[in-house]
Amino acid sequence: MLNKAKNVLQTYFGYDQFRDGQEEIIQKVSEGKDTLTIMPTGGGKSLCYQIPAMIFPGITIVISPLISLMKDQVDALEKTGIPSTYINSTLPSEEINERLRGIYNGNYKLVYIAPERLEVPSFLRLLKEIHISFLAIDEAHCISQWGHDFRPSYLQTKNLVNQIKPKPVILALTATATPQVQNDICDLLHIDKENVVMTGFERENLHFQVVKGEDRDRFLLNYIEKNRSQAGIIYAATRKEVDRIHLLLERKGWSAGKYHAGMSEAERNQQQERFLFDDLSIMVATNAFGMGINKSNVRFVIHYQIPRNMESYYQEAGRAGRDGEESACILLFAPQDSQIQSFLIEQSEMDEGRKEHEYAKLRKMVAYGHTESCLQQFILHYFGEENPPECGKCGNCTDSREQVDVTIDAQKVLSCIRRMNERFGKTMITKVLTGSADKKIKSFGFDQLSTFGIMKERTQKEVSEFIDFLTAEGYLQPTDGQYPILMLTESAGNVLRGNEPVMRKEKVRIAQIVADNDLFERLRELRREFAEKEKVPPYVIFSDATLREMSAVLPQTENELLQIKGIGERKLEAYGADFLSIINAYCKEKGFERKPIVTMKVERKTASKSTKESSHLVTYQMLQDGMGIDEIAQERELSERTVESHLIKCDEEGHEIDWDQFIPSQYEEIIQQAVEEAESTRLTPIKELLPDEVSFFMIRAFLQRNNEKVAKGEV
Ligand code: ADP
Repeated sequence: MLNKAKNVLQTYFGYDQFRDGQEEIIQKVSEGKDTLTIMPTGGGKSLCYQIPAMIFPGITIVISPLISLMKDQVDALEKTGIPSTYINSTLPSEEINERLRGIYNGNYKLVYIAPERLEVPSFLRLLKEIHISFLAIDEAHCISQWGHDFRPSYLQTKNLVNQIKPKPVILALTATATPQVQNDICDLLHIDKENVVMTGFERENLHFQVVKGEDRDRFLLNYIEKNRSQAGIIYAATRKEVDRIHLLLERKGWSAGKYHAGMSEAERNQQQERFLFDDLSIMVATNAFGMGINKSNVRFVIHYQIPRNMESYYQEAGRAGRDGEESACILLFAPQDSQIQSFLIEQSEMDEGRKEHEYAKLRKMVAYGHTESCLQQFILHYFGEENPPECGKCGNCTDSREQVDVTIDAQKVLSCIRRMNERFGKTMITKVLTGSADKKIKSFGFDQLSTFGIMKERTQKEVSEFIDFLTAEGYLQPTDGQYPILMLTESAGNVLRGNEPVMRKEKVRIAQIVADNDLFERLRELRREFAEKEKVPPYVIFSDATLREMSAVLPQTENELLQIKGIGERKLEAYGADFLSIINAYCKEKGFERKPIVTMKVERKTASKSTKESSHLVTYQMLQDGMGIDEIAQERELSERTVESHLIKCDEEGHEIDWDQFIPSQYEEIIQQAVEEAESTRLTPIKELLPDEVSFFMIRAFLQRNNEKVAKGEV
């Protein structure tokens, strides 16, 4: 079976190697073992059932919760030449009958259905008459009451399994399942614990970041400006917020979509389609948006408020970068936002025990907002991974911002709040501090306070932002309710007595996720034309990862094109010539007679790797050719940070790197001392002990080199 599976992987999907877990899963199901797999979003779950489906006799049924996803998956399968269909309530009954006849006649290998379909008796009768050898249950966490998205109709799958003879092999798949949910899925579907395949929750290409104490609107606008050609989702907690943010973006000239349950279904579908088709690059939405969205080229997901729990967060944030390209997941954190979520839990119809369970999950989510440790580590730990390593690239791991002493400003604010008897909210406090002429202030006599106008040289916005910062840092505690009052905490008392300094970090620097690339843009335009013609989302034609590899490797013949990940025979036939002609024209224009030497050299190596991998190998080859990090960055139009991360990846994969060249000898000793003193391999505490001119990368190089020595037994 595995040989056949490899063959399908190459000819239909255009990939040379299985990803982590895929081979093991396919092996298990081919041996008839019912299996549960937990693989992160973008990990490649679909292939785990699509490939066996092509090998097993008869039909594979795929149960999936959302219908928009089905159409997408079926469109994508058709493009690769795999006969498949879906049945759901969006289709007219004639069409359903037509498809049912097709199923009966064995015209399809894969059939996607929603769980509700299993409640239709005539459909069940049909299923009993055909040969179903394999049943894939996608988003399997929906079967568990302890999951964050329980759907009672999923319980029908249990009955289905009992009714089909002979019993089909089952593969349950999910990206988010705590250990409790995993157990539940196994119990309900009778899956042996030995047949749980967990590849780890890590998503290597995601950069997590928590931004706190900053003006969120300003951050958002700057971020979008900096990453203007990229697709992104902005999640907000309420419909009202979605409307407000959407309006804000439109006023600033951005064409953004919006999506929430208060809109009509037609409006929602239209907005969603435009986003999927790259017609709108930004989507502002509540959590109603996204389940079943397969768009693979989402480059950033920003949460304007915290979601209810870590499962929802990871699932929503995980919609970034499904294609494996570098992507950002940013949480704009303000502790008071947890009140919206508390309120929603309180208002829900859950019983007390269940509510308590939800509050505990919410507290964990808030802890994520507060943590100063590695964010990825926090997430992986939450999902039950033991001792996950620090990622070295999230906002916390790479935080090198200077700290500024703001104790005096903090004392001004805190003492003003005390003088106002801790009975007011942020707006009123801001007005008093800035010396506003508001009548209300006078009527309370606040203009007589010694703190009245004590910060009048600042704008109200600045002061309000500073109050947010003090809240985020735990000096102020907002009360529940729609108009929270700010109360002083114990640490506020310490600050007022002069026993505790308040330090504030500089503003977060906004990063560009991926560098602009001229050829990539041209290929993207061509993809868009095809997508429009064929009425499918662009990523169904080729993923961003495939286009990026094309623009790095510059294939010039059909054979070379076939070596790019994501190009199988069917797609080569349909699109190859047009894409080659753009690449050839580009090479001519730039004066590349043949492709650049560096990419030629690594071509053989990259042939069996994914795009992201090939990119770091290109960097490696350039380093081997004697180029410096800055030169590589310039030549490849990447940031130096990206080039550095390529080198670390190469090292971890066992490619020899001479780290000494990045550690100036005069710093060697002090770095060694700092590492010992910090008693940690985290970069930030080490950096803090060193002079400014010692960069993060020098420290990283030092640690990589020493690890290497440890590994080789030299130390
Ligand atoms: P998931 O369902 O786990 O979120 P998908 O099945 O949608 O992930 O896969 C994510 C992306 O990874 C898709 O573009 C898919 O084609 C690609 N992919 C899957 N398996 C491989 C592989 N073995 N090699 C390269 N790319 C792969």
